[in-house]
Amino acid sequence: MTESLVLDGKALAQSIEASLKPRVDRIVEKCNGQRPALATILVGSDPASATYVRMKGNACARVGLLSHKVELPDSATTQQLLAAIDDLNANASVYGILLQHPAPKQIDERVCFDRIVLEKDVDGVTCLGFGRMAMGQSAYGSATPAGIMTLLKHHRIDLVGRHAVVVGRSPILGKPLALMLLNAHATVTMCHSRTRDLPRIVRQADVVVGAVGKPRFIRADWIKPGSVIVDAGYHPGGAGDVDLDQARVTAAAYTPVPGGVGPMTIATLIAHTVEAAETRLGIQSAS
Ligand code: NAP
Repeated sequence: MTESLVLDGKALAQSIEASLKPRVDRIVEKCNGQRPALATILVGSDPASATYVRMKGNACARVGLLSHKVELPDSATTQQLLAAIDDLNANASVYGILLQHPAPKQIDERVCFDRIVLEKDVDGVTCLGFGRMAMGQSAYGSATPAGIMTLLKHHRIDLVGRHAVVVGRSPILGKPLALMLLNAHATVTMCHSRTRDLPRIVRQADVVVGAVGKPRFIRADWIKPGSVIVDAGYHPGGAGDVDLDQARVTAAAYTPVPGGVGPMTIATLIAHTVEAAETRLGIQSAS
């Protein structure tokens, strides 16, 4: 049996970051020494969200971007968050805005996401950006699915005419990824909590995506031998959404957990921010 190909997101993310550094240097030069910033907004004290924001800040530092951190208390209102977004929209040194999901329950997250101006929507969370991406027009796609697509493309995973089954339909992951796969000419099935006979559908997949948020939810015996597994999940103890220990044995290729999808999300967000700065400053994009 041939060995499964590891879709190493960590290695690709590192090489993407290395290629971004000189691009950031050019931006800084064009701005007379002023470093461009990615703004992050953290609302509340959820430790996982705080960790994700910190990791994004560290990635900014690695490539030479500033990270402009906005923190609001657990009790923040939608109006307060909208005011913070308005400030960042108007701030010329901010080129991208990341509103960390999930915001506390009292916040109307959809309204807040949609307040981000399109040019700074580097995490692809606005309805407008989503619609443009779906229609194949220029927009920054949602960072996690866009990172997955970059990883698949890098490894020349053939998607044309292949059956991709995406398990999960969240606005930030499953739904945009399904549309990106469709735009790449895969035949796409989207599954969710009300899907009937999920194992039967997953067994048909040439490419299966775990975006469920439940550890090892997709079982190894659902996976067709020779298929490609993309596991977006990450849970305490290192499990993903797919039972990878078993499933990877017969897969043609798989994303490891950790070191697959996660690092690609961050690298993609940073790459989108650099691209946003180049676009606004009229620098010929190197991407
Ligand atoms: P989410 O918003 O909770 O969405 C979960 C999706 O799974 C929903 O669409 C839900 O269906 C579906 N689902 C739940 N139970 C199901 C079941 N029994 N059968 C079939 N579908 C079911 O989660 P998310 O934010 O998309 O995240 C999904 C996973 O990706 C999580 O493990 C998360 O940690 C990971 N993630 C990773 C990154 C990264 O950068 N590595 C980024 C984002 C997310 P309904 O729509 O019907 O409720």
